[in-house]
Amino acid sequence: MSHALYPGSFDPVHRGHLDVVERASRIFDRVTVAVLENPSKNPVFTAEERVAFLQEAVGHLSNVAVIGFGGLTVECAKREGANVILRGLRAVLDFDYEVQTAMMNRHLEPSVETFFLLTKSRYAYISSSLVKQLAQFDAPLDDFVPPTVARALKRLSAPQA
Ligand code: ADP
Repeated sequence: MSHALYPGSFDPVHRGHLDVVERASRIFDRVTVAVLENPSKNPVFTAEERVAFLQEAVGHLSNVAVIGFGGLTVECAKREGANVILRGLRAVLDFDYEVQTAMMNRHLEPSVETFFLLTKSRYAYISSSLVKQLAQFDAPLDDFVPPTVARALKRLSAPQA
C-alpha cells in the first residue's frame, strides 16, 4: 500500500498544488495533504482555514485526506503511516532547498522516501505569495485558486469600513 504525505504551508492552496494532488491520487493508493501549522511563517490564513479550503477542493478525490500538523514532517509521516513524502517542483529555484530538505528527512527517517512531481508548465509560475499580491491589487484570481479561496482573498484585501 503506497501512502504519500504532501506537506506544505498552503497559504492558500492554489491550482498548482491541486494539480499535484490530483496526479498523486492516481499514482498512490492514499494521499494525505498535511498543512503545516507553524505560526512563525506568519500565515495569512489560520491552519483551520487552510485545511478547510483544501478539504473543499479535494472533496471529489476519495483517496485524499487533509490534516493539520506541527513539528517534523517525518514524524507526521510515521504517525500517519505514510511511506512517501511528496513535494511539487516548479523550477530550478525550488531545487536546492527541496534536495536539502529531502536529504535531511532521509537522514532523520531512512524508511520514508521523498518523491517529486514536476508541475505542469501552465502552473509553474503560480505561488501562494504571488496570488496574495494579486489579491491586494484586486486582480482576477479564478485562474489561480478555487472560487472559495478567491472570495476569502478578496475579503482580506477589501478596505476595512
Ligand atoms: P512550503 O512552505 O512547504 O514550500 P507551499 O504551500 O509553498 O509550502 O508548497 C507546498 C508544496 O507545493 C511544495 O512542494 C511546493 O514546491 C509545491 N508547489 C508550490 N507551488 C507549486 C506549483 N505552482 N506547482 C506545483 N507544485 C507547487
